[in-house]
Amino acid sequence: MTDRKISLALVGIGTIARSQHIPLLAASADFDLAAAASRHAGVEGVANFPDLEALLAADGAIDAVSFCTPPQGRFALARAALEAGRHVMLEKPPGMSVAEVAALARLAEARGLTLFASWHSREAAGVEPAREWLADRKVRAVRIVWKEDVRIWHPGQQWIWQPGGLGVFDPGINALSILTRIVPGSLAVETATLLVPSNRQTPIAASLRLALDGAPIVTAEFDFRQTGPQSWDMEIETDAGLLALADGGARLAIAGEAVAVGDNREYAGLYRRFAALIRAGASDVDLAPLQLVADAFLLAERQATEAFDD
Ligand code: NAP
Repeated sequence: MTDRKISLALVGIGTIARSQHIPLLAASADFDLAAAASRHAGVEGVANFPDLEALLAADGAIDAVSFCTPPQGRFALARAALEAGRHVMLEKPPGMSVAEVAALARLAEARGLTLFASWHSREAAGVEPAREWLADRKVRAVRIVWKEDVRIWHPGQQWIWQPGGLGVFDPGINALSILTRIVPGSLAVETATLLVPSNRQTPIAASLRLALDGAPIVTAEFDFRQTGPQSWDMEIETDAGLLALADGGARLAIAGEAVAVGDNREYAGLYRRFAALIRAGASDVDLAPLQLVADAFLLAERQATEAFDD
């Protein structure tokens, strides 16, 4: 495995598989995209199967499986891949619940396989420089504004509105994945207000207050109803000035000065990390962002809002 490319199968050929995974894998030095499983779609030039079961039964040469299906149902699929001896990478969020992903982590460890619960926003170009700069700063306040137009980014994706689909936390968890990576200290949700359309199961907007090391200094506003300019911004006030991440972490400014962080190559970073984990015989399963979302759902005040149709 050290020298040859890792033979990989992609499962769930939808928006993110097409826009990021397939083009990235086509140029990958680490992976050979050899197969795909999807009920209604396929990938040109590889072996295509209608489902994972058929793929696993047919192709014994696949080393790893990367899942781009919605979170609902991902647990059973990932478990089947691990039980068949394959390394597994999960799109974010890694599952529908904290416990099911923890169970996958235990299974991977017991089988000596890699499980990578990926958080693509953590690979945004400004995130690691922000983490390094914040490491020895005192954080005084954090303001997160993550507002996007669901009709543009998730047209017709019914799963997002169904139980386990997270609603506005589907993008919101990206902000929380950055926050939990860059801010030193312990985060906990203190209050949450969820706006849930009367015809849907998951929130279209959410307001959160979190405590950092016990101090209630973090606010997050998530909204799927944003039209016009989109906002994926995070401002962190510190004892040494303001750190601002914009465009989902792609741009960084410190004390008002833009910091050169290079190109934004989130999925290249993810697959580099997956290959390194496989070659090192290790796993990476950080459940902190999913735990915060679960806690927000646990303690939230829910308010009904007008029906949403797309
Ligand atoms: P999507 O466009 O709905 O694609 C998911 C694909 O999975 C579908 O096309 C479908 O293909 C397959 N699938 C299997 N079981 C399904 C089910 N029960 N319901 C619906 N589809 C099912 O979703 P996506 O936007 O690619 O998102 C997939 C995952 O990637 C999510 O966890 C999401 O949070 C994450 N992600 C999305 C984006 C983005 O911008 N869209 C960005 C980063 C991460 P078949 O019908 O052919 O089986």
